[in-house]
Amino acid sequence: MDGVERQDDSTLAMEMPTRRRVALVAHDNRKADLLEWARYNRESLLAHDLLATGTTGKRLRQELGLEVTTVESGPFGGDVQIGAMITEGTIDMLVFFWDPLEPQPHDPDVKALLRVAVVWNIPIACNRATADFLISSPLMTSPYERLTQHIAREKTA
Ligand code: PGA
Repeated sequence: MDGVERQDDSTLAMEMPTRRRVALVAHDNRKADLLEWARYNRESLLAHDLLATGTTGKRLRQELGLEVTTVESGPFGGDVQIGAMITEGTIDMLVFFWDPLEPQPHDPDVKALLRVAVVWNIPIACNRATADFLISSPLMTSPYERLTQHIAREKTA
């Protein structure tokens, strides 16, 4: 992993690259909301590397002309792929507009993604207000060392 420094037995410090690697995911009923947020913040997003689940990414590309790398669609494993990337240290921030009003066929994957993002201390925005706060934070464009604690790893070591 790039930019990783071990602080002590249980804590790693990971320096984020200047262009933050931002993962974007929106469930179907939240896609319009995410697209609108991304349109409003398009200029800020251009300064970062974007990755998204299949359909979310396709719409960001087609409707906003953003350069977005895509993984599988969420129900086909895209959430799990993003979770794995967080674990590998290649995602710095997650904007995940999940649907609080409808059950999803891939609910276990949704939970896994949110869990892994918390374990690895990734900034997460699950609604527009939080996404606004994150994207406008001075920390988006200044050096930041993310600390991660490996409680589970320690337990099994
Ligand atoms: P999608 O996946 O962007 O491919 O629709 C999102 C999700 O349902 O997790």
